[in-house]
Amino acid sequence: MRTGSYVNGQWYHPTSSEVGRNINPADTKDVIAEFPLATAADVRLAVDAAMDAFKSWKKTPGPERGRVLWRAADIARRRVEEIAQTLTREEGKILKEARGEVMKGISLLEYYAGEGYRMHGKTLPSESRDTFAYTLRQPLGAVGLIAPWNFPWAIPVWKSAPAIVAGNTVVFKPSELTPATSALLAEIYEEAGLPPGVFNMLVGTGPEVGEAMVAAPQLGAISFTGSNRVGGELYVKAAQRGAKVTCEMGGKNAVIVMPDADLDKAATAIHGGAFGSTGQRCTATSRVIAHPDIKNALVDRLVAMAGSMKLGPGLDQTSDMGPSVGERQWTTVMDYIKTGQAEGARMLTGGRRPDALSHGFFVEPTIFDSVTPDMRIFKEEIFGPVLSVANAGSLEEALRFANSVEYGLTTSIFTENISSVMRFIDEVETGMVHVNEPTVGGEAQLPFGGTKSTGVGEREMAEEGLNFFTEIKTVFINYSGNAERSMTR
Ligand code: NAD
Repeated sequence: MRTGSYVNGQWYHPTSSEVGRNINPADTKDVIAEFPLATAADVRLAVDAAMDAFKSWKKTPGPERGRVLWRAADIARRRVEEIAQTLTREEGKILKEARGEVMKGISLLEYYAGEGYRMHGKTLPSESRDTFAYTLRQPLGAVGLIAPWNFPWAIPVWKSAPAIVAGNTVVFKPSELTPATSALLAEIYEEAGLPPGVFNMLVGTGPEVGEAMVAAPQLGAISFTGSNRVGGELYVKAAQRGAKVTCEMGGKNAVIVMPDADLDKAATAIHGGAFGSTGQRCTATSRVIAHPDIKNALVDRLVAMAGSMKLGPGLDQTSDMGPSVGERQWTTVMDYIKTGQAEGARMLTGGRRPDALSHGFFVEPTIFDSVTPDMRIFKEEIFGPVLSVANAGSLEEALRFANSVEYGLTTSIFTENISSVMRFIDEVETGMVHVNEPTVGGEAQLPFGGTKSTGVGEREMAEEGLNFFTEIKTVFINYSGNAERSMTR
């Protein structure tokens, strides 16, 4: 299994003596690979390779660039099981979810393959006579992509596919916790015929490789997904040197449940949103804001569903939920569980690592009731299988609670009342909203991302994702025979 770096079309061994370890979070005795960590010097090599490859890649016609992505989608479809198994082994989510993630990446490859034919500008009437005015899109050059571990296949695809089809070349840093899944993407791009230097991947730490990428003056854009702690600083540094930057960061997503909601459907959606992927989705449901009339009935359902979950390695097809990704994340989650108890919230179920699974970073699905908006477990991103339930007596109060956090990624409402739905859509402060469905999910053709502290810069996926990786050029062609511009300007 490959976990090394890939530069200029070669699997490349960084010169560093430091070694990273890729460990299966469901079984810490399973060391997937040891790999040399790339350094700032390797970033310079990768940037040079990307700059060099840009000269011819930008001249390759868009449809031809798109065809490479289309072939990559075909190859990935053939290798779904291999990618999913690798993903599950190093990230921990159950196989069914890993397969879903691989399919999501394939949809994104197909969507952006088509964009190779549609990289359109605009033709607009000029204020001047005998002047043809239009816009065209051009690639930015070499760009830097920095990804987290929680979607180690889909996020690298949703960043690299629009960058590549728009004619840019890429220096990509996956999370050092999940390098093997991302290495498969490099292999697939190579097999699909992507020329050397168009996609370069460096496996290294954030402070070493990530910071060197953010500082590299040749990288015309930085696209980051990860935590607010890292993204906040990175945004300032990259913007200061004039790079285009987009950062998609944390979430604290809520489901509002109104008294007229179908409680079985609401419970199923909340359960999946909270405990699917072990709560390690930026779109995970981590808060429920329920009307007091139905809160207890809803909570009873949620506790019963959580209690029936089977924890275990994701590679075991009978497991319902895998582990946290690693020790640091596991400790964070356990600390938040202690915080919730100390704050006076009522823990109804969960809260422990099952004894039989002590060799992995497992946490039981955990539900807190009697949570109030001032509590840290209500406000802060936990990124684990912990759900907080609060009461709100009206839609206005529910919206106030939902909007009271710094994050703004996604929110959902369960109600049959159209006025409540419309008011909710108008007033909730998140980049994505759902009605009568879970908070999770995204589609290739629809913009993905958040408001407030969750997101700065352009949305990802869809046309917006492509826009980020292009520069608009406005063109005036004067065919009047007179070089002066009209006085109307
Ligand atoms: P993280 O911020 O720790 O790391 C993200 C990436 O940044 C990694 O590749 C890491 O090595 C790199 N990095 C770390 N320090 C750096 C530095 N100083 N300079 C440059 N790069 C650096 O985040 P994580 O733990 O990998 O991911 C979890 C977070 O990602 C959660 O907050 C989650 O909500 C967020 N996330 C957001 C979205 C979204 O679209 N909004 C999607 C997935 C995950």
